[in-house]
Amino acid sequence: MAARLKEEIAAEVKALTDKGERPPHLVAVIVGHDGGSEAYVANKEKNCLAVGFKSTNLRFDETITEEELLAEIDKLNNDPEVDGFIIQMPLPRHIDSQRVTEAISWRKDVDGFHPVNVGRMNIGLPAFRPATPSGIIELLKRYEIPTKGKHAVVIGRSNIVGKPIASMLMQKAYPGDCTVTVCHSATPDIKEQCRRADIIIAALGRPGFVTEDMVKEGAVVIDVGTTRVPDPTKKSGSRLCGDVDFDNVAPKCSYITPVPGGVGPMTNCILLLNTLAARKSLLPGEE
Ligand code: NAP
Repeated sequence: MAARLKEEIAAEVKALTDKGERPPHLVAVIVGHDGGSEAYVANKEKNCLAVGFKSTNLRFDETITEEELLAEIDKLNNDPEVDGFIIQMPLPRHIDSQRVTEAISWRKDVDGFHPVNVGRMNIGLPAFRPATPSGIIELLKRYEIPTKGKHAVVIGRSNIVGKPIASMLMQKAYPGDCTVTVCHSATPDIKEQCRRADIIIAALGRPGFVTEDMVKEGAVVIDVGTTRVPDPTKKSGSRLCGDVDFDNVAPKCSYITPVPGGVGPMTNCILLLNTLAARKSLLPGEE
């Protein structure tokens, strides 16, 4: 599905450039040297180039002050050749990441973390929506999975996955119209909640947390977890592990996403889709 989405995006970019217009331009701002961020940004750049986008990485030393970084963001906000930009987290401790997030023009906030986008998404208005939950919604839509009246259980309540997917699934829309239960570390009966679920979204970062006895027959299981665990059989010495015990849970499901694969590649596509919309001065959902 992610490959098909990328083909569709590439075709739209080609239609733009064939008319002599510039391709979408995504900028990633990286402060300091975080291994995880480097890998993410390299992957993002690869995806951008694959669909014909312009991709720029703006790197700053970790000694940059908050004011200097805010000035750089202001430049990006006012640069007509930049359609969207993302600030790689985590930022060094001396920089207030919330202040930085709020300094981004919400019309260029393709990560969907600005409070204006968060608020618009919550009240059902077109908005840049965070890539991971948006990717899950796209999967449900493209596989034509019924959601209306279904009981969805979300495990995890982070601002980037749990809260937004819960909000999206409860919207009066398709995919949506679910009755949503959100579980977290203070939920005493997660097993029981999951057993009643038609749709389980596991986003807690605990490898293999969702076991076969927690899943009812025919459920849809979406595994967001990506935890790196040691694996001496791999050349790298480790592998990515999801939050679901895939081998034992899969036989009970009508649909299940694997890790790696599944949600991760869709997440990458949504960042591209958001940037394409920004290039057209639109918000996703306005076309
Ligand atoms: P996070 O900020 O660490 O949040 C984890 C959430 O899970 C928190 O709400 C936490 O509860 C809850 N939780 C943790 N342990 C729990 C337990 N034993 N029982 C019940 N709830 C528990 O993580 P995140 O950023 O949302 O990411 C979650 C996972 O998804 C991670 O593995 C991450 O790598 C992965 N991820 C994947 C993608 C992708 O593109 N595939 C994108 C983003 C994240 P409290 O709030 O009570 O602490």
